[in-house]
Amino acid sequence: MRFFDRLRYGMARFMEGRYGMDPLNRVLFFVYLGLLIAGMVLSRLQLRLAYVIVYLLELFVLFAFLYRAFSRNHYKRRAENDRFFGFFGSIKAYFKLRQAKWRDRKTHVYRKCPNCRAVLRLPKKRGKHVCCCPKCRRDFSVTVH
Ligand SMILES: [Zn+2]
Repeated sequence: MRFFDRLRYGMARFMEGRYGMDPLNRVLFFVYLGLLIAGMVLSRLQLRLAYVIVYLLELFVLFAFLYRAFSRNHYKRRAENDRFFGFFGSIKAYFKLRQAKWRDRKTHVYRKCPNCRAVLRLPKKRGKHVCCCPKCRRDFSVTVH
């Protein structure tokens, strides 16, 4: 029993101050599992080159996962996590806006406020108009064709 106590103590000491899991690491872990399965399928199909590429990706993702989990630089790891999800958030926002533009194409137009960059949904009235941004309260002109 003593051996296991020492082992447990040693593990706890080793993990002390390490970063561990975060949402980005969970994503990396699932990507790794996906690549592992893809690699197995490719090797069954004897697609050598594709297998080698997937295998290298697998190693890279595993390395990134372990590196982040055992890192002591919590600040940097958190920043990575935020950048990653910020990036995906902006992709999602882009597609949501495209969808909304398409849905409202007959009744509304979408314009960016030149002052605060907020995207505004405006009624589709032909011609030149002055519009007051509800966010920054500044006027700008809008031309609808
Ligand atoms: Zn504005």
